[in-house]
Amino acid sequence: MVIDKLSDISPVFLYENGIRLIVLDLDNTLSPYGNYTVEHEIKRWIAEAKKLNMDVVVLSNTWYLRALISKLIVKVPVYYMALKPSPFALWKILIRYGYSPDETCVIGDQVFTDVLMARFAGTSFVLVKPLSRHDGPHTKIFRILERSFIAEKIVSSVK
Ligand SMILES: [Mg+2]
Repeated sequence: MVIDKLSDISPVFLYENGIRLIVLDLDNTLSPYGNYTVEHEIKRWIAEAKKLNMDVVVLSNTWYLRALISKLIVKVPVYYMALKPSPFALWKILIRYGYSPDETCVIGDQVFTDVLMARFAGTSFVLVKPLSRHDGPHTKIFRILERSFIAEKIVSSVK
């Protein structure tokens, strides 16, 4: 599923579709790249999901310190250096929380990390528009690839 912003999809909708674990990306999904602010709307969205008894975690390729600060802001577990699109970090989370891929939804702004990882792990995904136009150096390369047909194929072949 492709949406503009997180609030375009409600936690209730995900819950009603059997999702019990939400795996959020950090950079440009939760906070703009290079920035630690989290919009009130996003905080409220996470609180709503938690109220439904869903587990919400953040999974990011970022470093320890950024993960730690974000954890203090959003108050959900933040797993860092995930090496997305490798699915190993996601698998570890599924085992730790006891959920199947069918009960899991990955939400992120990048096809070649977030969506590809979701595809490898067999979970659902929601692709959101990046919060800012600034990206890390590696991401800039992926953004070019995202305009290719390969990206379209990855997005359209995942649930
Ligand atoms: Mg991102």
